[in-house]
Amino acid sequence: MTRSLTDGFGRVHRDLRISVTDRCNLRCDYCMPEDGLTWLPRSELLTFEEVERVAGILVDRLGIRSIRLTGGEPTLRAGLPDLVARLARLDVDLSLTTNGTTLDRLAAPLVAAGLRRVNVSLDTLRRDRFEDITRRDDLDRVLAGIDAALAVGLDPVKLNAVVMRGVNDDEVVDLARFGRERGVAVRFIEFMPLDASGRWDRDAVVSQDEIVAAVDAAFPLEPPRRGSAPATVWRYRDGRGEVGVVPSVTRAFCDDCDRVRLTAEGAFRTCLFATSETDLRSLLRGGASDEVVAEAVVRSVDAKEAGHLIGQPAFIRPRRSMSQIGG
Ligand code: SAM
Ligand code: SF4
Repeated sequence: MTRSLTDGFGRVHRDLRISVTDRCNLRCDYCMPEDGLTWLPRSELLTFEEVERVAGILVDRLGIRSIRLTGGEPTLRAGLPDLVARLARLDVDLSLTTNGTTLDRLAAPLVAAGLRRVNVSLDTLRRDRFEDITRRDDLDRVLAGIDAALAVGLDPVKLNAVVMRGVNDDEVVDLARFGRERGVAVRFIEFMPLDASGRWDRDAVVSQDEIVAAVDAAFPLEPPRRGSAPATVWRYRDGRGEVGVVPSVTRAFCDDCDRVRLTAEGAFRTCLFATSETDLRSLLRGGASDEVVAEAVVRSVDAKEAGHLIGQPAFIRPRRSMSQIGG
């Protein structure tokens, strides 16, 4: 029987983010330190069988309806199409967030395995700036990856762009234009304090209001619509698609949050900013039944905090960086 994954505040959780690796081939300044992190040994990663089992329990018993694969860079996990094929058999909306560098090679096998849509992260269209932000000269590969995703029919292809003051805030309109021209919806993301180097600062956050004002001045927008997704979405008045903002810092969407997370090594988290997590891998490898795994998840969600406290004195940075949690 399916129960719903409801927390102590009555919020029902239907969206599961699964990180399939902590590794990455880029080193985005806002996500990972320049030297990278110590990668988990393979034995510590959940196997595909384990991921499939946890996902099955959450879908069949606890009402999860959408699954997004993330990382680290999920496409670096060997055999990713095999995992996609396993998860595509579940009755869920399955998607992937990727830096796009490998999509020219992997878009076709991922679609063949059952992937339908994809989010590609891209914060700049300038080659020198791409290299400054990611510490790799890979802009052309990402652009080729976006083209490949469109060519194989992934739909929608969305673009995620983290906006940082003094870094890429002068490119908001260029990125919006790129999205309109390519037929990809851009989601601007407010910069969150999850950078591994701990250099986040409130002044570096470009607010949703600033982002929308810039886009609206160039390409007039209709009034916003707010769905269950964390992004607030605006349609362009001329009908050429839509643009969204994820206002994680200036308008925390914690009251409407329906997301839970599984890290690459099998830690279940109820929030990006959670300071505690539940070790499902030990349960799986210790022979626990599906019932016991489900109960551990239910207990964890029941204890979910009301919301994050970014910008307030009581805020505690999580021990993990974004790349280790899975954005
Ligand atoms: N490597 C993949 C990618 O870049 O899309 C998936 C993992 S990445 C951690 C997922 C998303 O988190 C990306 O869109 C990235 O831009 C975003 N992200 C990373 N660090 C962030 C931060 N400090 N604030 C806001 N978004 C961040
Ligand atoms: Fe890698 Fe994605 Fe983090 Fe960039 S944002 S370092 S691509 S995990």
